[in-house]
Amino acid sequence: MNTAQQLLFNTRAAFKSGITLPVEWRIEQLNRLLDLLNENENALLDALHKDLRKPKLESIETELIVVKNEAINAIKNVQTWSKPTYPSKAFVQMIDSVYILKEPYGVVLVMSAWNYPIQIIFSQLVGIIASGNCAIIKPSELSPVTSELMSKLIPQYLDKECFRVYLGGIPETTVLLKERFDMIMYTGSSMVGKIVMKAAAEHLTPVILELGGKSPVYVHKDSDLKLVAKRVVWGKFLNLGQTCTAPDYILCHNNVVDSLIDELRKTVEEYFGSDPKESPDLARIVNARNFKRIESIMSATPKEKLAVGGETDESALYIVLNAFAESFKYIFFDVLLYFIFGKMTLSTAPTVYKDIQLGDPIMEGEIFGPILPVLAVNGADEAVEIINSQEKPLALYIFAKSDKVGCNVSYLKPPPPFLLSCTSSGGVTVNDVLMHAASHNLPFGGVGNYGFILFFYHYLDIIQHLDSCSPGNSGMGRYHGKYTFDALTHEKPVVYRGQNFESLLSARYPPYSEKNLSM
Ligand code: NAD
Repeated sequence: MNTAQQLLFNTRAAFKSGITLPVEWRIEQLNRLLDLLNENENALLDALHKDLRKPKLESIETELIVVKNEAINAIKNVQTWSKPTYPSKAFVQMIDSVYILKEPYGVVLVMSAWNYPIQIIFSQLVGIIASGNCAIIKPSELSPVTSELMSKLIPQYLDKECFRVYLGGIPETTVLLKERFDMIMYTGSSMVGKIVMKAAAEHLTPVILELGGKSPVYVHKDSDLKLVAKRVVWGKFLNLGQTCTAPDYILCHNNVVDSLIDELRKTVEEYFGSDPKESPDLARIVNARNFKRIESIMSATPKEKLAVGGETDESALYIVLNAFAESFKYIFFDVLLYFIFGKMTLSTAPTVYKDIQLGDPIMEGEIFGPILPVLAVNGADEAVEIINSQEKPLALYIFAKSDKVGCNVSYLKPPPPFLLSCTSSGGVTVNDVLMHAASHNLPFGGVGNYGFILFFYHYLDIIQHLDSCSPGNSGMGRYHGKYTFDALTHEKPVVYRGQNFESLLSARYPPYSEKNLSM
């Protein structure tokens, strides 16, 4: 057996022992996870700073508090979530007991991204523990300090047999993906999502794919532009644009596009000063490969379109050594690099481009960095056309004072334009950004099919928009709060029938020809 096989064998043995089944055990594990977060807060914040130069407040708000709320919510509710439910009975079940049992799948493989390394893994782990599953956790090799720390802390606090961390890069993950898990929960790029789904298909393993994409912002002409700039600049440049739900591009009404650019410029300066590379409130780009990728998007965009920012700050030596470390794919090279060159920045100033067209290179893929293109549109109708010509996004943001533009869902008589009901996306926040993804009482995930949009277009009788509508690359499945519990739970229907009342039931047996079952 190789290491991956051994790991899975041992974890499955722990699951089969039944240790995860009592709800009291799950609550105890969830409390230990809370202890892990509380007792190691400084170490976790420090690791995030080393990996991504995340500002402390940002890490607390977007990583630690999110997970603590998830854990507290699960501790409070897991008893109720785990109870059988009793649906109403059909006529033929009148003599039976009918209920739905909540059954864990078994061993879940968690494969995660580097951008919110603590929030994503621990939030998913909360749901895994609450639902009685075991897990093998594969953190990202691109956030090596945080990954190493998690690999130390998780076995210190949680059951060592049930929850195991597996460190490694692409070769190690490729080996791991050959094994048969009971569920794969993957967070990362759409490209690797396809690799994961192919590997899962070999064993018909169910998957939850939390992917990315280009999340648009529409700004209507009646908006308070100062407010739009404050909210969009915050959400876009949080973690230096490396957020899956970050606004990717702005579609702004023609009449107000120049004023919006002015407000964006003022707000960037207000938040990060005139020399953003000196700002302690900006994270850094994760590694040299991503830095080069962002630089190449910038060099493919004409200089005259630059409206804000544009400066890059690289350490040539860091780039060379990071590329060397990546070619060897060993985490300790990255860790070593941090300790030698950690103080050096690898950063791009918050940057805004104006006069962008749909066919420009900047509009080709997810930006996932601190660059914000602005496209001028004639109004919400054109914004709908553009949004529906792209992959279904993970998030959509609408800024408008008028309900008719943003959130009119009375689809039986809506006057166009009405962005919310004419587009499909993983989630929507109206007049702010990121907020629908920040709470454990809402499901979070992408949208990978046509179903929803077909339904709405049918009623709205504006079928012409469908011509250009494409399927989603933002993922499938959803989580956060009870939705994670549900995603990781098999709802097993049970009909419990006694051995009496046979005469009542015998009408169903052959030979049928002697029976009159006319209804
Ligand atoms: P990634 O897909 O490169 O890596 C994610 C995981 O896959 C890592 O653990 C990595 O080791 C593994 N991996 C990478 N290449 C692999 C390969 N060839 N074979 C097997 N495993 C491989 O993604 P990333 O760069 O870490 O994250 C960025 C992407 O993730 C962005 O697109 C972003 O939008 C998305 N994201 C989505 C969410 C969400 O919740 N929807 C959250 C965070 C990030």
